[in-house]
Amino acid sequence: AVLLSRTKILQRIGNLFFTPWDTGCVLGYDYSRCGNPTRTCLEKAVAVLDGAKYSLAYASGLAATLNITHLLKAGDTIICMDDVYGGTNRYFQQIAVKMGLKVIFVDCTKLKCLEAAITPETKLVWIETPTNPTLKVIDIQGCADLVHKHKDILLAVDNSFMSACFQRPLSLGADICMYSATKYMNGHSDVVMGLVSVNRDDLYERLKFLQGSLGAIPSPFDCYLCNRGLKTLQLRMNQHFHNALAVGRFLESNPRVEKVVYPGLPSHPQHELVKRQCTGCPGMLSFYIKGNLKHATIFLKSIKVFTLAESLGGYESLAELPAVMTHASVPKEDREALGISDTLIRLSIGLEDEEDLLEDLDQALKAAVSWL
Ligand SMILES: *Cc1c(COP(=O)(O)O)cnc(C)c1O
Repeated sequence: AVLLSRTKILQRIGNLFFTPWDTGCVLGYDYSRCGNPTRTCLEKAVAVLDGAKYSLAYASGLAATLNITHLLKAGDTIICMDDVYGGTNRYFQQIAVKMGLKVIFVDCTKLKCLEAAITPETKLVWIETPTNPTLKVIDIQGCADLVHKHKDILLAVDNSFMSACFQRPLSLGADICMYSATKYMNGHSDVVMGLVSVNRDDLYERLKFLQGSLGAIPSPFDCYLCNRGLKTLQLRMNQHFHNALAVGRFLESNPRVEKVVYPGLPSHPQHELVKRQCTGCPGMLSFYIKGNLKHATIFLKSIKVFTLAESLGGYESLAELPAVMTHASVPKEDREALGISDTLIRLSIGLEDEEDLLEDLDQALKAAVSWL
């Protein structure tokens, strides 16, 4: 056998993919920040799931938000749901404002409040439904109808909680559907990623330009992992839904629980809207335990199948105390106004066996609320 020179070996390895003179330039893969075949593969899959014409992938959910925000210019106003993901709130309030954008927070569950807040400067309405951790639901179609009475206002929906399996914001009139794919879309707690789907050609062109220009793109390997995760999205979401319903019913009938908040249960104040707008509900469920902070803490120390942790949307069940953990940076008065008390526990219900989850919750509730 003839030993190849280092140069020849390197050339051959390179040729496994492409050389600039054949496929590279033709397909647009001249530089991986602007386009990569594995990323394209993921983006096409997400577009199909969302019933969208186009999809784009980013380094994180917040990177997706950053790119969307860059569609605006200094002087424009963003109307944001008053109860959004903490990192979105922080980015809008502490960073986007430095670029000359104005951000106002409005309770978009009340369409009248949204309507009253719109001004000629409004260019983006940002909603998240259901909200975190109080799981309020926003009427996407209602918002879209209202927003589109005005020219040039975009409606963006953070769809991380529902995933493309249970809710398709574009079909309900939204202009932009955004995900933290770190959550349900990837679903395996091993990737941080963001996704955006749109139908409008002009929006896609601008976002595509920003994606390559801002540079907050995911690695091909993460795209591969997320694409792989998507293949079981429906199976996973159905199991999250099944388990969450079982947990919800169990907690509702438990004397140690004050109240359960789960959009998939008839007891949720917006259950009718949920049935109209979604085809299922994810594993996000919140409940108020009887007692005070001390009892909530004992509960969290007693769980064994559930892990005490932030994040959500993975295969494993997690529990946390928003007032002390994910939402500690929200001022106490605002927390109370939103219903985030010291006894509100948020669960991200995973894919385990239903019986194991119920048994674990039962023993932890008995340990925490021991006087009953
Ligand atoms: C986690 C999360 C984000 C932020 O996404 P990252 O991938 O962590 O950057 C945005 N919105 C919602 C609803 C989230 O849960």
